[in-house]
Amino acid sequence: MANRSLRALRSDELDKSRLSKVRTRIAPSPTGDPHIGTAYTALFNYAFAKKHNGQFILRIEDTDRTRLVPEAEQKIIDSLNWLGMKWDEGPYRQSDRLNKYQKAAKELVEKGAAYYCDCSPDRLDKLRKEQQAKGEVPRYDRKCRLNQPKNLKEGTFVVRLKIPEEGETSFDDLVRGRITFQNKDIDDAVILKSDGWPTYHLAVVVDDADMKISHVIRAEEWLSSTPKHALLYQFLEKETPIYAHLPLLRNPDRSKISKRKNPVSLAWYREQGYLPEAVLNYLALMGWSMPDSREKFSLPEFIENLDLKRIDPAGPVFDLQKLGWLNGEWIRSMAAAQLTERLKDYTRVGSIDITRILPLVQERLKKLAEFDLLTSYFFRKEIDIVPKEIIPKDKTKEETVGTLKTISGPLEKIEKWDKESIEKALADKPEKVGWSKTDLFQMIRYVQTGSRATPPLFETLEAIGQEVTIARIRKAINLLNQ
Ligand code: GLU
Repeated sequence: MANRSLRALRSDELDKSRLSKVRTRIAPSPTGDPHIGTAYTALFNYAFAKKHNGQFILRIEDTDRTRLVPEAEQKIIDSLNWLGMKWDEGPYRQSDRLNKYQKAAKELVEKGAAYYCDCSPDRLDKLRKEQQAKGEVPRYDRKCRLNQPKNLKEGTFVVRLKIPEEGETSFDDLVRGRITFQNKDIDDAVILKSDGWPTYHLAVVVDDADMKISHVIRAEEWLSSTPKHALLYQFLEKETPIYAHLPLLRNPDRSKISKRKNPVSLAWYREQGYLPEAVLNYLALMGWSMPDSREKFSLPEFIENLDLKRIDPAGPVFDLQKLGWLNGEWIRSMAAAQLTERLKDYTRVGSIDITRILPLVQERLKKLAEFDLLTSYFFRKEIDIVPKEIIPKDKTKEETVGTLKTISGPLEKIEKWDKESIEKALADKPEKVGWSKTDLFQMIRYVQTGSRATPPLFETLEAIGQEVTIARIRKAINLLNQ
């Protein structure tokens, strides 16, 4: 008991001292289209740094040369800019820092915390296959650790981490508490490859230490690498950062989020017209919630309320439908002028027309890219309608033609085409033709828009314009008379 409270006190104190100089980072690998998971991790790092008046750093982890995609770095930068998460330092690039990793590897070998290994790829491959055949987890058998190779030839050996044979390695995780690994279960991982490039483990630790990262907030998938990192900090005599491993985002069937079941590329969300505000808001709801449980909140509100200890490690489900709902909420709450500005990238409609039409569809718009589809009947001369859809249930073709003729005259005569005069011109028509208001207005809606679910009728007709409204009535009459 006494022991436990002592430990709790210590980690809280550590917490406090770290909070005076918070530095976080997002460290994406430029291997393809920026991933929704990168935005998720970036968000928590960014918000945590901002909350504590700290710095948020961008570091490009480009040491895996086989998976490098040249345009990926620019895409990462564009995505973070789009989301409005400005970094305070960087982008740093690991490929610019190779000498630092080589120096650290040398220091580790000299200290006896790492060793050279010249086992051939063939031998390692054979070893792996044998272990797999026995149902064992593949790992290095420490041949070169037991028998140091002599006369090493440049370019033929790697550097491996010398994991202690006994004991355990622990670290604190703000989301998961204290985590302990048995050293005997940890592999002597390669930290420097034969071409002099570092692996992730060495580069990440050297950089986080060098860049004075106080809190490493990253995806759960790196949790199992963390004991190696904790040991590297010890060996390099650097202060270990505080860890927070975020839960894995999941598909609705609870599998790890994947392309097949959910779009994962940030570019897709941007193209579809999800607002960055909504994407960040939704990501903030993944494993985290506002103290008052409200679901719609802004980035500054998130920053103000963020507490990493309140993250739930159980994998949250990323549900596109819910994001769509939230995006709609954001669209509805946005001032018309601001939304018009945002829409410009998503529509061929000019801004004067956007301003005219927007009030009619803002309520129903879920994604900015839907704007043209949702409003096409305002702009196209011809819309697709079919005769049998024009005729209301329980009405005949002849009655419908009669009704269309009855309304067309008074509409044509309107001098100042606005919603008030349209409403006035149609006011007595249901009674005149003996139809219910619903039947009449639904029929007009369909004839004018090709759909029954449209914005308020009079406003819609005003926006469509007198000439086109009349032309569409005539077209309907012709279609029914054919
Ligand atoms: N380069 C790693 C990635 O792509 C970074 C992992 C970490 O944050 O330590 O996710």
